Amino acid sequence: MGSIYESALEKFGKAADLMKLDPGIRKILEHPKRQLIVEFPVEMDDGSTEVFTGYRVQHNIALGPAKGGVRYHPNVSLDEVKSLAFWMTFKCAVMGLPYGGAKGGVKIDPKKYSKKEIERVSRRYFSEISIIVGPDKDIPAPDVNTTPDIMAWFMDTYSMNVGYSSMGVVTGKPVGLGGSQGRTEATGRGVSAVAALGAKAKGMDISKATVAIEGFGNVGQYAALLLSTEKGAKIVALSDSRGAIYNSNGFDIKELMQYKVEHGTIADYPKAESKMSNEDLKKLDVDILVPAALENSITPELAKDVKAKIIVEGANGPLAEGADEVLNEKGILIIPDILANAGGVTVSYFEWVQDLQSFFWKHEQVNEALEEMMANAFNEVWKAKEEYSTDMRTAAYIVATNRVAFATQKRGIYP
Ligand code: NAD
Repeated sequence: MGSIYESALEKFGKAADLMKLDPGIRKILEHPKRQLIVEFPVEMDDGSTEVFTGYRVQHNIALGPAKGGVRYHPNVSLDEVKSLAFWMTFKCAVMGLPYGGAKGGVKIDPKKYSKKEIERVSRRYFSEISIIVGPDKDIPAPDVNTTPDIMAWFMDTYSMNVGYSSMGVVTGKPVGLGGSQGRTEATGRGVSAVAALGAKAKGMDISKATVAIEGFGNVGQYAALLLSTEKGAKIVALSDSRGAIYNSNGFDIKELMQYKVEHGTIADYPKAESKMSNEDLKKLDVDILVPAALENSITPELAKDVKAKIIVEGANGPLAEGADEVLNEKGILIIPDILANAGGVTVSYFEWVQDLQSFFWKHEQVNEALEEMMANAFNEVWKAKEEYSTDMRTAAYIVATNRVAFATQKRGIYP
């Protein structure tokens, strides 16, 4: 198996071939614009010194400043950050946001450090990358293991260096400190919106649909909550890293969210009819399957046993290499990550707009604008799917690539 970046390029390549993309534009998009590696020392609570490695990659800025989260994880690598930055270019473009794509990361296991140590790591990392970030240049956001508190430290660090409060330099900040209403549930809301649109396109009644969701974190919880309370779907199976639970009558998601807070897991929830493995959850005979946990969760082997009619990719890259082909062959509608989980970056965009104007929106206004943008993007991708007789992932790349290609061509190549 090649690098993650190579496999990301492969999916883009399929769209580039189909749309007969100009070879020059294709070359530009195949290469990230900037890759910054920083190695920086941090003083630990016991007085010792540790050196950490961090990254910030800006893949493309043809449509506007770069945008993308920062991940804290021991497996963070340049290859992973590059691939995530690449996906962000297309995610922002498919949504019609005036942004390019970026991503960052620090190679660290945050569970091993105190809050004060994480604060010092965060401030020093942000200070190191601040030579390329800024509200007009590149706007980071939360990703795996980075929180609103960390975003507040990022914003404060940058502000101390420039000498004034620069709220628009990061998104995902706490509400009351430049954060936006509706950001917490934004990705789940987007997942719920496109799932309903996908169901409609398939001639399915969402209020009668059964749903299985892998992962009960930020994305999984809010997708479950909104699909059940706003769309009327029945969430019959859910899981976290400890295992899956099933109830043919559907779960009360509010109650389960509370249970998760109290017990740290939903695996032992007493109102489940049965328990099962995460593997079996993905093989259930349900209408909609939402993988909202990790990358590569559905392998081509497992894909053979998937019975859902629609897969909505809440996670980034949940289908392993080769799984798309198996699922497409079976006629399963795959709503791809760059569209399905774009609700988060869309509300991040709203946050940035609010910060730049110092004028904040009501919660309903955020939700309404998000639903409208998700529907527009879904419809455009659907149209491209029909026009090119292809799958939704390739269609999403086509829509996004057209926008980036237009901007690149109009701007021309400097000098
Ligand atoms: P999270 O850390 O809040 O939740 C992850 C969930 O997955 C947890 O419930 C965890 O127990 C579960 N999990 C871990 N390993 C598992 C396994 N082997 N089987 C089943 N469940 C497992 O993370 P999140 O923010 O919900 O993100 C989930 C995915 O969505 C990631 O791929 C992330 O990159 C993507 N995503 C998140 C956002 C966002 O706004 N949070 C936006 C876009 C994409």
